[in-house]
Amino acid sequence: MKRCYISGKISGLRMKEVRSKFKAAEKAVKALDYEPVSPLNNGLPANAPWERRIAANILMLSGCDAIYLLPDWDESVGATIEKQIATYRGKKIIFADDPQFEDIMQAIYEACGITFAQLITKDRRIFPRRTNATPDDDMVAINRTPDLFSAICPPDEVHIDCTFTWDIPVATFLFEQWQKAGFNTKIGGVAFGERGENFVAGMYLKRGYVITSRGCPNNCWFCTVPKREGRQIRELPIVDGYNILDDNLLATSDSHFNAVIDMLKRQKERPIFSGGLEAKILTENRAKMILDLNPKEMFFAYDTPDDYEPLVEAGKLLQRLGYRKASQIARCYVLIGGKRDTFEQAEKRVLQAWDAGFFPMAMLFRDKQGDYDKDWRRFQRQWANPTIVAENLKRRKSIMI
Ligand code: SF4
Repeated sequence: MKRCYISGKISGLRMKEVRSKFKAAEKAVKALDYEPVSPLNNGLPANAPWERRIAANILMLSGCDAIYLLPDWDESVGATIEKQIATYRGKKIIFADDPQFEDIMQAIYEACGITFAQLITKDRRIFPRRTNATPDDDMVAINRTPDLFSAICPPDEVHIDCTFTWDIPVATFLFEQWQKAGFNTKIGGVAFGERGENFVAGMYLKRGYVITSRGCPNNCWFCTVPKREGRQIRELPIVDGYNILDDNLLATSDSHFNAVIDMLKRQKERPIFSGGLEAKILTENRAKMILDLNPKEMFFAYDTPDDYEPLVEAGKLLQRLGYRKASQIARCYVLIGGKRDTFEQAEKRVLQAWDAGFFPMAMLFRDKQGDYDKDWRRFQRQWANPTIVAENLKRRKSIMI
C-alpha cells in the first residue's frame, strides 16, 4: 500500500488539539487508500528540539509516496519545508481543504443539474429581459454586452434569445455588440417567429419549466402560435419538469397526455399548468387526471366571447369532480384591451370567469411593438395581482375569498 505523510502545524498548539486533528487526518488518508504516516509517531518526545524533530519528520516523508497537507500547513515553518521537499521529490500533494475534482463535478451537478462536461462546453445565453421562466444558471445574463467573464472564459457561442417582439431592438443591439467583440453569436427566439424545435431542458427556460408539445389546431386572431408552430400538434420527447408550458396540452394524443401525467406524478413539486388548458376540449377523464395530481395552479383562457360557454362547462365539470373554487387553483387568463374592447366589457368578462369557477388574471393585449394604452395598463393591474383581484372580487361580488 502506498504511504502518505501528514503535514501540518504542531508548534504553538495544545497537544490535545494536535492529536485530534492528526487522528482525523489519518482517517482521511486511509479513505484515500494510503497508509498514513504521522509525525506524531517520529519516536521523539514532544519537547525534543525542533531541528531534531524536523529532521526525523523529513526522513519519514522520504519513505512516502504522497504528502497530505492539513489546512494550517502554511502557518508552520516545518510543514512549509516538508511541502517544498515533497514538491522537489515529485511526491503527490494532497490538500486536506481542497475539494477533489469529483466533488467539484458532483457539486456542479447538484447545483445546476448539468454535468461538468456540459458546463464547460455550454454556450453563453443572453436575454433582453428576465421573466419568471428565464433560466438562472451561471451561463445566463440579462441585457448584457461582452464582459470580463466572457474575456476570461470565452464561450464557444453566444445565443441571444428574444421572446417578445417589442424586445427585438434590444436583442439586435446585443447581437451586434457580441459579434463586434469577435464572438460566434446567434440570435433567435419566438419573437422572430422561429419554431421551437426539440425542447432542451434548462437551455432557454428555467429548470422545472417544460414544453412537451408545440402547435395548436386553433387559429385565434391575436395569437402567434398557429403561425409560428403550425396547426398540427408536434409531440416532443417528455423530459422531467413540473411547470407545463405547452401551447395546447389538451390537444395532444391520449398516449402523450398520459405520459405527461406519469412524468408529473414523479416530480417532487406540485404541477403547474401555465400553458393554457383549452376548456372546450377538457374531458371528464383528463380533468380527473389533472385534479388527481393536486396541481398548484392550472390556467384556462377567456380570450374571445366564444370561450365563455366552454369555460362555464369546464368550471361545472371541475366542481363536479370535487374542485373547490375558493382554492383559487383553477385560474383564467382574461384577454383585455383589444381593438373594440371597453372597460365595462372587460370587467364583465373578468367577473364571468370568477362566476364560472376560475380565479381571473387579466392579460393585456399588446401590438407587435409592445405598445399598449396606459389606461388599459392601469385596469390590468387591478385584475392581475391575486391580492388586488381578491379585494376587487370581494367588493364587486360581495363575497368572501
Ligand atoms: S387556443 Fe390558445 S394557443 Fe391556440 S391559437 Fe388560440 S390562443 Fe393560441
